[in-house]
Parts: sequence; C-alpha cells; structure tokens
Amino acid sequence: MTDITERIKQEQAVKELNIKLQKHIKELELSNEQLEQFAFINSHDLQEPLRMITSFMNQLQRKYGGVLDEKAHQYIHFATDGARRMKQIILDLLEYSRAGNAMEDQIEIDLNELFAQYKILRRKVIQEKDVQFINHGLPKIMGPIAALTQTLHSLLDNAVKYTKQNEPPLIEISAQEESDHYIIQIKDHGIGIDAKFFDKIFIIFQRLHDKEQFDGTGLGLAVAKKHVDSWGGKIWVESTLGKGSSFYFTIKK
Ligand code: ADP
Repeated sequence: MTDITERIKQEQAVKELNIKLQKHIKELELSNEQLEQFAFINSHDLQEPLRMITSFMNQLQRKYGGVLDEKAHQYIHFATDGARRMKQIILDLLEYSRAGNAMEDQIEIDLNELFAQYKILRRKVIQEKDVQFINHGLPKIMGPIAALTQTLHSLLDNAVKYTKQNEPPLIEISAQEESDHYIIQIKDHGIGIDAKFFDKIFIIFQRLHDKEQFDGTGLGLAVAKKHVDSWGGKIWVESTLGKGSSFYFTIKK
C-alpha cells in the first residue's frame, strides 16, 4: 500500500472515531440532564410526605410521650433521625439539580468575610470538635456569591467532618495568586483519601468512609464541582491516607 492510501485510511479512521465520540458525549449530556430533572421533580414530591412523618412523630412525642415506654421512645427517635437524614438527601439533591444552572450576578466578594461567616454559622460543631482554623489571607474577587458560598461551606464542612478528635484539629485556608486566577486551598489533617479515589469522590453519591461513623449524602463534592465548572474553574484534591487532605479550586481574578 502506498503512503498516500495509508494516510487516507488513517484519516478516515480518525474521522469515524470522532463521530462515535461526539455521539457518546451527546448521550452522556442527555443522561445528565435527565438525572437532574429526576432529582428536581422527585425531591419536590418527596418533601411533603416527609414533612408529615416528622410532624406526626413530634405530635406523638408531645401528646403521648408521658405514657410511652423506653422502647417506644427509641423507635420515635430512630424514625425522626431517619426523616432528618432523608430531608438532607432531598435538599442536597435539589441543590445538585440546581447547581450551575442559575446564572448569578458577579459581585465583589471578600473571601475573608465569607470564611468568617462560615465560622459563626458552624460555631456549635466547631466548638464540639475543638477545631482550630488558620486563615493565611484570602483575596477579594468578582464572583457568584451563592455558588461560591456553597462551594466553600461544603469543602470546610468536609474538612471539619473528616477530622477526628485525636488528629491535629487544624484546618488551614489560603490562596495562591496566578496570572489570571487564584487557587484556593482548604487543608485538613484528618483521615485522608487513597489516591485511587481522587477523581471518583467528585461523582454523585460516591462515599468512601464508614457511613455509620460519618453522616453524609455523597452529594457535597458533586455539587461543588458543578459550581466550579459553571464559572470555568477547576477543583481537585491531594491527600495522604491517615495524614490529611488538601482540596483546591480555582476562581478568576
Ligand atoms: P459526604 O456527604 O459523604 O461527605 P461528599 O460528596 O462531600 O459527600 O464527599 C464524598 C466523599 O469524599 C466522602 O464520603 C468522603 O469519603 C470523601 N471526602 C470528602 N472530603 C474529605 C476530606 N476532607 N477528608 C477525607 N475524605 C473526604
């Protein structure tokens, strides 16, 4: 075969591969859209019956609490706790389906203030776990306030949650300035993540750790990734198992 025929054959193969790839990308985009619609519709429909369960459990406790034995109190507690966890899943699913779709206005945001607000909002759990924070200095940027707040809260919540009592309870936040963007880093000294899961944890419902020990829905990082994608940024993790993790995301200057 001549060189020319060989080249034509190769080009044809590349073209066919490209067409196949485009088709797969379209299919993936469609299934993602369907998943988002499913999440949105179902989370709305699930909220009402759940509200009823919680409300009737409260009434049962209030009106008949005095005549119920210890076992019955325990059952009410389990049911109420199950309802609370389900509510969190529904709220996170709603958040997941909304994330990245709403075009928010870009306003001036001082990330130091956002961080200070977080500490006030979560002061109870911060005190309980005796967590210390160090802010190495954050910039002011132009950005979408709701999406940015949620991303930062989600990463800080995880840093607090996956720091156990006997580990150095230290969480550090810092920013590195690049030519046209900042890299924000949230560093903990908690339980850490095995390198083989670095990409996987940003996918919806991926949870690595003992579900009994760590409450969660497996949606926080998927939501954060959608937000960061929406402003054209990147999000990633570096971690050593048993030593701690650093989560990074980028945002334009
Ligand atoms: P979850 O609600 O389970 O925390 P996320 O989507 O926020 O869900 O995180 C996905 C998984 O990634 C978690 O279940 C946990 O296993 C792991 N993970 C996230 N952040 C950290 C962290 N700072 N340290 C260790 N593991 C983490």
